[in-house]
Amino acid sequence: MFSFQSIKNYQTFLAENSDGCSVAVNHYLSEIEKNKHLNSFLEVFAAEALQSAKELDAKRKAGKPLGKLHGVLIALKDVICYKDHQVSASSKILTNFTSIYNATAVEKLLAEDAIIIGRNNCDEFAMGSSNENSAFGIVKNAIDETRVPGGSSGGSAVAVQAGLSMISLGSDTGGSVRQPADFCGVVGLKPTYGRVSRYGLIAYASSFDQIGIFANTVDDAALVLEIIAGADDFDSTASEQKVPFYSSELKEEKKSYRIAYFKQALEHPGLDKEIASSIQTYIQTLKDAGYIVETVDFDLLNYIVPTYYILTTAEASSNLSRFDGVKYGYRADLNKEDDLTELYKKSRSEGFGKEVQRRILLGTFVLSSGYYDAYFTKAQQVRRMLCDQTKKIFEEYDAIISPTVPTTAFKIGEKSDDPIEMFLADIYTVYANLVGIPGISIPLFKHSNGMPFGLQVMTKHFDELSLLSLSKQMMQLKP
Ligand code: GLN
Repeated sequence: MFSFQSIKNYQTFLAENSDGCSVAVNHYLSEIEKNKHLNSFLEVFAAEALQSAKELDAKRKAGKPLGKLHGVLIALKDVICYKDHQVSASSKILTNFTSIYNATAVEKLLAEDAIIIGRNNCDEFAMGSSNENSAFGIVKNAIDETRVPGGSSGGSAVAVQAGLSMISLGSDTGGSVRQPADFCGVVGLKPTYGRVSRYGLIAYASSFDQIGIFANTVDDAALVLEIIAGADDFDSTASEQKVPFYSSELKEEKKSYRIAYFKQALEHPGLDKEIASSIQTYIQTLKDAGYIVETVDFDLLNYIVPTYYILTTAEASSNLSRFDGVKYGYRADLNKEDDLTELYKKSRSEGFGKEVQRRILLGTFVLSSGYYDAYFTKAQQVRRMLCDQTKKIFEEYDAIISPTVPTTAFKIGEKSDDPIEMFLADIYTVYANLVGIPGISIPLFKHSNGMPFGLQVMTKHFDELSLLSLSKQMMQLKP
């Protein structure tokens, strides 16, 4: 029986098995089939994956040079474009839309011999924290099927959690990789803003969006990041900074990292008591192991969720204006007397789900004349202050740690009627997107309710090497 532990392990298996890629693809296809009820995949590229596996097996047999992700199966969140394949952002408005090009990240994966196994369900246009906003149904958490997997990249998190793919790519605008990773007990990495090209990623809020990685191990995430990161002529916000060889440069031996945590974050009334105490105990473990861990005052904590929702909805209202019933996908049936305005109105009202409409309205409101300065400008000022404070913290510390989410995965339906409660649960993750720093959720803990939860680690801009090294060391101190 095939079983997957890590990419390195799998590569050893391939070296000893001439039909190894085909064995792996068959294994995953049958697992996906068995777990269909989880609703993790919107589409599985079965025939193509089998064909690629056959070609890759032949390539190995012929002794040709192999890509760094040779035969690695990867699933894509349904907001990442894969040429000649459908992409819908889990929205009715993109019905029957087919990508005409590859996202840069996908192009890079394919160039290293990866196999794209399918596309994953998510919250519509990546807006949500529970995957309950998809036009194609909820996704279930494989550990407890009455609970949500988190969102918005819920399908991608479950793909790795339930062993339906080796790796998956998601997108993280305010926590959509780290939060479902926390709920599902896997590793979820959001790189620095600009580390990975956004070309071919359907935009939600362009100054926040980053493609992120779900994996079983920190090493696997490091290898995939090394491949998808880097400059891109098609995205001027993708950084020119050199990409380190994360996978081989990870520091396993302890460098004495200085770690900060926010007093206000661990004392927050919304934080589950058991999560708070587990993290407190773990901080002691870190100190005993020789790390310097200190508390830092952070008085802006209560401003970050409102700031995030003002700025992201503003950007979304502009980004989503292109889905108008004319250029892409869904168009409403019209009456004879309907004019162009009516076409826009009907197509957008029928094509977008409730949450997306709420955010377009909110974003339009905060950008409207008369309210612009009170909301949008103010939020931009808070963002600036957050960046300044963060810079100061990283003058003294190498990393910041915090809970990833205030609670473990909640029950399906529990929060769907209360958008404010849902928004507030993003308190720990949106910070990294507001200031652009990298963040990861690592699966360290288990709650007495049976659910996993993670620790979030953040470092300064473009210091993914420390982020991944420290995370790997922390995994070795797992309680
Ligand atoms: N939960 C957040 C939101 O709904 C994060 C979404 C994301 O990162 N794509 O905006």
